[in-house]
Amino acid sequence: QAKAEGRNRYHFFTSTLSHRLREQRRIAANLRESLRNDEFELLFQPQIDVKTGKFASCEALLRWCPKDKTKAVTPDVFIPIAERGELIGDLGDWVLKKACQQAQAWKEKGIAIRIDINVSGKELEKSSYFDSLTAYRAEYALSPEDIGLELTENVLIKSDSTILDGLKAQRDLGVEISIDDFGTGYSSLSYLKHFPVTHLKIDRSFLDGAPENDFDSALMEAIVNVGHKLNLKIVVEGVETESQSDYCKSLNVEFVQGYLFSRPISADAIETLYVEQSK
Ligand code: C2E
Ligand code: MG
Ligand code: MG
Ligand code: MG
Repeated sequence: QAKAEGRNRYHFFTSTLSHRLREQRRIAANLRESLRNDEFELLFQPQIDVKTGKFASCEALLRWCPKDKTKAVTPDVFIPIAERGELIGDLGDWVLKKACQQAQAWKEKGIAIRIDINVSGKELEKSSYFDSLTAYRAEYALSPEDIGLELTENVLIKSDSTILDGLKAQRDLGVEISIDDFGTGYSSLSYLKHFPVTHLKIDRSFLDGAPENDFDSALMEAIVNVGHKLNLKIVVEGVETESQSDYCKSLNVEFVQGYLFSRPISADAIETLYVEQSK
């Protein structure tokens, strides 16, 4: 009886696993086709300067918009699949180029907004990433300050010296570099000393519980203190309520980002917001 059950479970397991693999392969194939047909879009979410209440930077967030909308999945799902299937190189290049085009368009209109892009570890492994960044900057007449990079802790930890040297070179040029989802990856803070970063983006999971939850608020406060001691700017992501926003202010963080201020929106909508705040 137990044996039969075990066997059934095994069958169940293998069939869901192969189902999942098939599903991932299907998504990868659709992604590839969408890359050929340019069926992606960049949305932008403002990062608000707590002191002024205004924004001068935003995060670029990729959206997949295939003609058949039922095929679309969120970046949480398709980015890891793209990373596994080698597609991330082309996808990341699309994001980089699009962000640079947008930054140029804004500059030409006198709109001063830095665009931060999310970079996956797999993209950095390709030695050409920084060359592309440099080439696009030249092509679109951008300064290093115009495009920032967001990397997760785990990417930084796993980076070899070539990648770190590449990042340092960008940092020396004036590129802003954020550690994304800070607090969810590697647990030692001492490594921060060795990385050329300018901003810590505290993961929104810590904000969920703070300020009511003592553990979450203790972590938030500790991260802000360490970050400031190391001369890093702090960004809190996922701010959804006024009380969370007030809490961030009380911690003296530099930037806040979240649905309370704006969801990720189109480039045109960002322009409207920017013009509005400049009045
Ligand atoms: P992330 O870089 O940590 O981006 C923050 C995510 O939180 C975004 O989800 C954003 O829409 C969402 N968010 C912003 N404010 C709030 C809020 O107040 N509440 C809640 N609940 N969520 C909020 P999104 O756009 O679905 O992206 C998910 C992840 O996918 C990103 O996490 C990033 O890791 C990855 N991703 C997105 N675009 C790109 C890209 O162009 N390249 C790469 N490599 N990864 C990307
Ligand atoms: Mg990010
Ligand atoms: Mg994040
Ligand atoms: Mg994330």
